[in-house]
Amino acid sequence: MSEISRLAIIIPCFNEELVVKSTVETLLGVLDNIISKGKITNNSYIYLVDDGSKDSTWSIIEDLRKTYGERVKGTKFIRNYGNQKALIAGLESVREIGCDCAISIDADLQQDENAIEIFVDEFHKGADIVSGIRNDRKTDSFFKKYTALCFYRLMNILGVKIPPNHSDFRLVSRHALDILEQYKEEGLFLRGFFHEIGLKTSYVHFNVKPRALGCSKFNFFSLTSLALNGITAFSIVPLRIIAACGVITMLGSFVLAFEVLCEKYILHTTPSGWATLVILLAFFGGLQIFCLGIIGEYLGQIFNEVKARPRYIKGIELK
Ligand code: UDP
Ligand code: MG
Repeated sequence: MSEISRLAIIIPCFNEELVVKSTVETLLGVLDNIISKGKITNNSYIYLVDDGSKDSTWSIIEDLRKTYGERVKGTKFIRNYGNQKALIAGLESVREIGCDCAISIDADLQQDENAIEIFVDEFHKGADIVSGIRNDRKTDSFFKKYTALCFYRLMNILGVKIPPNHSDFRLVSRHALDILEQYKEEGLFLRGFFHEIGLKTSYVHFNVKPRALGCSKFNFFSLTSLALNGITAFSIVPLRIIAACGVITMLGSFVLAFEVLCEKYILHTTPSGWATLVILLAFFGGLQIFCLGIIGEYLGQIFNEVKARPRYIKGIELK
């Protein structure tokens, strides 16, 4: 790993007119400091993705470009696509423009920008991914804190072992960006993706600051949609749960049948026709759910095929 790298900092922005200028200026200061220590090249830059802002975010970005020249780059979406797509666009763009590593950070700078230098150090020590882990969630609302906790627990149960308090504040190497390029699926969930590809990962803990100006751009619906996307993009376990429910219901119907038959032929307590009805209802109910589960298995296969993820990723090859 070369000791001096070109770093790109990616900032997704949605209606961030109150903070974007100060954030860019702070981050340029951070870049200057790391450049002066000889850890990154002086053509390292900031790449802003305006995710269809309705306020003056983009015109501020254009002004910043005029002031700071090519150290500030960016793009503007024609409409709001959501934070994940803005991040993906940033990662794909800096790969095209050129960089050895890229760090994504929020426009409100809630994440500790001083951790950026530590990220770069970890990268130079050989990590392909350096993931920012929040020390706590003090700045989050009660609702967000607990729904996030439940989400990470659920993801772990479903087989996606993402560490809790994970964030999109991370460094990724050029190698990771090249792999990202092979994942063409539309609804890619970055936290799952960077974990799943299995590259050498370091974890750096950082303190979360409260948002200085403006308000959170996530609401209940966008958070739910992000969580559902995360689960369905990485796990077909929910489909398997349907099949399991079907099998359990069918097995239950046999036990029920035994009990109902005892009641009918030994105790003679059931009215005529009742036993047949109950047994058929329970058995076919179970059978239907089980059949849905089988359809789910094939649906899961189609889902995986449609995503057309690479079959494998070679780390090193000797030819
Ligand atoms: N963001 C975005 N598109 C959206 C929502 C958010 O690009 O549709 C950006 C936002 O401008 C910020 C980052 O994603 O840079 C995180 O958003 P925010 O700080 O509002 O989230 P929170 O800190 O409340 O989780
Ligand atoms: Mg924030």
